[in-house]
Amino acid sequence: MTSIDVRPADLQPIRIGVSSCVIGEEVRWNGGHSRQRYLTDMLGPFVEYVPVCPEVEVGMGVPRPTVRLVRQGDDIRMIEPKNGVDWTSSMRRLSLKRSSELADEGLHGFVLKKDSPTCGVFRVRIYTDKGVERNGRGIFADALIRRMPHLPVEEEGRLNDAKIRENFVERIFGYRRLRELFRPRWTIGDVVAFHTREKLLLRAHDEKGYRELGRLVANAKAVPRAAFADDYMDRFMEIMKRPATVSKHVNVLQHMIGFLRREDDDVGRRQMHEAIADYRAGLVPLIVPMTLISHLATRHDQQILLDSSYLSPHPKELMLRNHV
Ligand code: SF4
Repeated sequence: MTSIDVRPADLQPIRIGVSSCVIGEEVRWNGGHSRQRYLTDMLGPFVEYVPVCPEVEVGMGVPRPTVRLVRQGDDIRMIEPKNGVDWTSSMRRLSLKRSSELADEGLHGFVLKKDSPTCGVFRVRIYTDKGVERNGRGIFADALIRRMPHLPVEEEGRLNDAKIRENFVERIFGYRRLRELFRPRWTIGDVVAFHTREKLLLRAHDEKGYRELGRLVANAKAVPRAAFADDYMDRFMEIMKRPATVSKHVNVLQHMIGFLRREDDDVGRRQMHEAIADYRAGLVPLIVPMTLISHLATRHDQQILLDSSYLSPHPKELMLRNHV
């Protein structure tokens, strides 16, 4: 897959783990794939994929009988319904081992196949004596999430939703910035500068969370380095998970107008208020006020806005803010 390099020279490439079948590898039980076009055609050129098919790696073969999650007392087993073969122990072992290996792969996110008893993240079917519950999680997905709790994880099916897609891509790029921040020799000054650049983006997700994170930064000297870094990453990624709604974006954009200090630019400020009103009314997507505020920030020489990750949280070529 060709890769477009849109990163500053000192940044690591974005590396995304994927269920192999969602990028077109023919590893499904029936010998087919579940290619997700957004992943291969749109996001693919900006990232390096690290494909994993746990069912093939555990030795089930292709093609193979289907497996399902089955409740047996307090336990949930992975069973082939056709002939009763129980793969639970092998799959748990493989999942723990692969999750540990993947933790050393420098991943920035993971996209998993929905509904799979191995890879599904949300609402996977569990078969019980009384019927089917839809509250399970695939064995591999569960091990992966436990091993890497900060890692942005999403299901390929949910990426068809523009808001979920934008949120996921924002998180993977945010996670890379976080990892770059907490390189071995980070300083509190680095964290303060980072937090300043991320302020508007965080506020678009969760104002209260942003303020709490600010208090953590203010108190950073009093906390052991490793514990601080872990806590900051944890809270940062939790904030980013919360949806950035229209009204939160409107608040941030209005706050940004306050930075436009050139007195002779009433026209610019008025255009910005109009663009925000149109965005709030659903007449234009977020990209419209974002583009205008970028131009105005340049015209007003507002470096603090231009440096903000809110204005460029991911490559513009992905056009994610054209649809939210
Ligand atoms: S869902 Fe997971 S286990 Fe199933 S074929 Fe895809 S990658 Fe393999």
